[in-house]
Amino acid sequence: MKISSFYPSALILLAISCLQAPTLLAHQHATPLDREALLQGFGWDVDAAEITTEQVADGLYVLFGLGGNIAVSVGADGVLIVDDQLPELADRIKAAIKGVGGGDIDYIVNTHWHFDHADGNLALGPEGATIVAHSNARSDMAEGGMIDMVIARYQQPPYPADALPELTFKYDMALHFNGGEIELMHFSPAHTNGDVAVFFRQQNAVHMGDVFNNSGYPFVDIGSGGDVDGMIRFCEQTLEAIDEDTIVIPGHGPVTNYETLASYVSMVRTVRDRVQTMIDAGMSLEEVSAAKPTADFDAAHGPEAASLGFVNRVYTDLAGKQ
Ligand SMILES: [Zn+2]
Repeated sequence: MKISSFYPSALILLAISCLQAPTLLAHQHATPLDREALLQGFGWDVDAAEITTEQVADGLYVLFGLGGNIAVSVGADGVLIVDDQLPELADRIKAAIKGVGGGDIDYIVNTHWHFDHADGNLALGPEGATIVAHSNARSDMAEGGMIDMVIARYQQPPYPADALPELTFKYDMALHFNGGEIELMHFSPAHTNGDVAVFFRQQNAVHMGDVFNNSGYPFVDIGSGGDVDGMIRFCEQTLEAIDEDTIVIPGHGPVTNYETLASYVSMVRTVRDRVQTMIDAGMSLEEVSAAKPTADFDAAHGPEAASLGFVNRVYTDLAGKQ
């Protein structure tokens, strides 16, 4: 697996936008990349990276850097963040939180176990933040595991005890913090088997983690218990739990709204149904990929080659259920 075959985007884990040619799919069983090679492949320069801040509501901010979007609640009770990117960025993340009037981080909610959303735990956990996650996400963080992005694989190492969630749940929980309810919901396996949507009820906002990628096609991490039908269900249940004015924070990509999430789930459902029809007709993965079941979505979610990883995971998921 050559680094040069990676697409220089910080959004790659979800989008799999690194796919540049169908032949790269042949590399899916290639040797896992080490962390340095992985970050290089994503085009991530941890030394040069800057954290930018967007205020989305009163007391609620989103930080962008390298990896998953970070939501920050700042108020009378302190600071709660959702996801924490990479440990190399911890000082810059803390500076950005100070920049909006926050102090030390009291709570970290991890939307799932992937390194680009949770590796910051390695720096921030030992400093005393209380980490909260789904119980399956904690198990994966504790044991480590392979993340198969189709064109590249990464063996995420186990986290030490002080970087692991201290509070876990299976279905839902709520924190009453900064004058409002912060509700954590796990509707179903989706991107992984330990995804959490975080609802900031006071600000009418939700952080979806990687169940919602607003920067390309989604990554259904079937090796981590991800499930395309579950991803559709998870998004639909989120839509039922919000309204047309809700601020929607995706795992990657710009902050958006109900309508964009609705259109995303419609795309996922359409591609899923097309792939299922092709499987029912006896088509192989190669034939399905060649038939381009995402073609009419590539302009909005592309590049076209990025769809191959998505189609690969959807096919493999659905064919495994036959
Ligand atoms: Zn992820």
